[in-house]
Amino acid sequence: MIILKKSKYPLSYDDLIDYLKKKKIDFNRSTVFRNLNYLTENNFLIKVNFGDGKIRYELKERDHHHHVICRKCKKVYDFYDQDLDKAIKKLEKKLIKKNKINIDSHQFEFFGYCQKCL
Ligand SMILES: [Zn+2]
Ligand SMILES: [Zn+2]
Repeated sequence: MIILKKSKYPLSYDDLIDYLKKKKIDFNRSTVFRNLNYLTENNFLIKVNFGDGKIRYELKERDHHHHVICRKCKKVYDFYDQDLDKAIKKLEKKLIKKNKINIDSHQFEFFGYCQKCL
């Protein structure tokens, strides 16, 4: 999944298929699907949900960050904010206590419309 390494934003299964087609790379749909599942289960990829019913994938080894997404063109901006993460960590501690669940990660996404799509 080298393409996920090169990509600056999370890719969906369809994005990957489009890419393989464009590059005229021979592939098997179920193999792609199986690979994605395998890599996710083994913690190489994380699933990102942008609320449009599509699952996107991103490499886990990337530095921790969050996303700002345009609802229309799906352009993705990465950002990291220390204050936000401190607040989230605090909240996680509370949630762990309250729900007796071991939280080990979080995803945080902001949605809106970019300049072009306004
Ligand atoms: Zn846009
Ligand atoms: Zn965070």
